[in-house]
Amino acid sequence: MDAEVAIVGVGTMGSMAAWQLAKKGVSVIGFEQFGIGNDRTAAGGESRLFRTAYMEGPEYVPLLQEAKHLWRSLEEASDNNLLTLNGGLMIGESGSLEINTIKKSIHDFALEHEVLEGEQAKKRYPQFTLYENDVVILDKNAGFLRPELAVVSAVQQAVKHGAKIKNYTKVNDIVPEKQGATIVTNEKSYHVEKVIITTGAWTLKLIPQLKNKLFPRRLLLTWFAPKDVSLVTADKLPIFARMRGDFRLTGAPMLDGSMVKASYTKDPSYIDDPSKLYRDANLEELERISESVKTLLPVLYPDPVRASAYMDAYTPDNHAIVGELPDTSHLIIASGFSGHGFKLSPMIGKILSELCIDGKTNYHIQHMKPNRFFEAANF
Ligand SMILES: Cc1cc2nc3c(=O)[nH]c(=O)nc-3n(C[C@H](O)[C@H](O)[C@H](O)COP(=O)(O)OP(=O)(O)OC[C@H]3O[C@@H](n4cnc5c(N)ncnc54)[C@H](O)[C@@H]3O)c2cc1C
Repeated sequence: MDAEVAIVGVGTMGSMAAWQLAKKGVSVIGFEQFGIGNDRTAAGGESRLFRTAYMEGPEYVPLLQEAKHLWRSLEEASDNNLLTLNGGLMIGESGSLEINTIKKSIHDFALEHEVLEGEQAKKRYPQFTLYENDVVILDKNAGFLRPELAVVSAVQQAVKHGAKIKNYTKVNDIVPEKQGATIVTNEKSYHVEKVIITTGAWTLKLIPQLKNKLFPRRLLLTWFAPKDVSLVTADKLPIFARMRGDFRLTGAPMLDGSMVKASYTKDPSYIDDPSKLYRDANLEELERISESVKTLLPVLYPDPVRASAYMDAYTPDNHAIVGELPDTSHLIIASGFSGHGFKLSPMIGKILSELCIDGKTNYHIQHMKPNRFFEAANF
């Protein structure tokens, strides 16, 4: 036996699972096809938003609250600053699904927030164009994460606790055995008791049975130069989700002293082969984001100064797939985070460690159960 647990894909979720398992004394071997923290994974692009008043569903709130503590514990262990809670502005039309779900999350869990009205909102946040029927909610437990540093920090902690990480090592196959499984790489094969599959947008290559349940999609991130630098620093500009009709802009304040990230994150395009991701931007995309920024974020010059594309795996209901694959107790998957998984990642790492060690978790992850998509018999 080469290790108790193999982690295939040491990106966002894999790094956190490695940290959580190694910390608990489990022997771990992780396989990553690229370097650790590289920006071809879903973790690329400098920042990720952390929100608690959750528009994707109140069922996430307890997981997010615990994730916040785990982020702090990773910061403490690594001595790195990973999560800055500078608040989150959620702006959308009154009565929209997103605003109603945010309100429900706030109501169900008595979340710290402010609702800003008309002139008061315009005065406090002149960076945005606000319309009469807009609702402006400030989520006090929101902010931004440093994704590449977070992945590297988690791996460093895992290694410190004894994990072995094989970078630049692509897994070609995972073969379930009666006892455990064999991991096949170009270099050699490894035998382990359990396997965690955290291969993000590449998951279909190893688990083709998930076709039509998991879809790699491409998201374009864009950065803009501010017209007034003093209005876009982290103390003045919270992270934001600005929704209006077909426009959805999400972004973070200026982190590098020169640019503000504001990206169009609605309906990302589907891609057939994650190894052939088009990382550039086409003119149509740039025009669309430019139009959104011109209309909704007048504090920025509307031509993007930087653009790059990334991928994530999406599911039909936008909830991830986390748990044992059917007919096996030793293959555990965590994929399909549908464009909103980063903030949850230390929590997912913890849940994966519990599934490996105890065979169950007490956290509520019913909405992420693999069996909602397939019957064991036809897997
Ligand atoms: C542009 C963009 C913006 C986003 N914004 C936010 C946000 O603001 N807030 C938020 O919470 N979430 C956000 N998300 C979502 C979040 O980043 C993802 O849900 C999360 O990072 C997915 O993690 P993962 O581990 O599934 O995938 P990844 O981080 O991509 O990890 C998969 C890893 O598996 C490796 N791998 C794949 N196949 C193999 C193989 N055969 N052998 C070895 N290694 C392999 C890959 O190289 C990669 O390192 C965003 C996503 C994108 C793309």
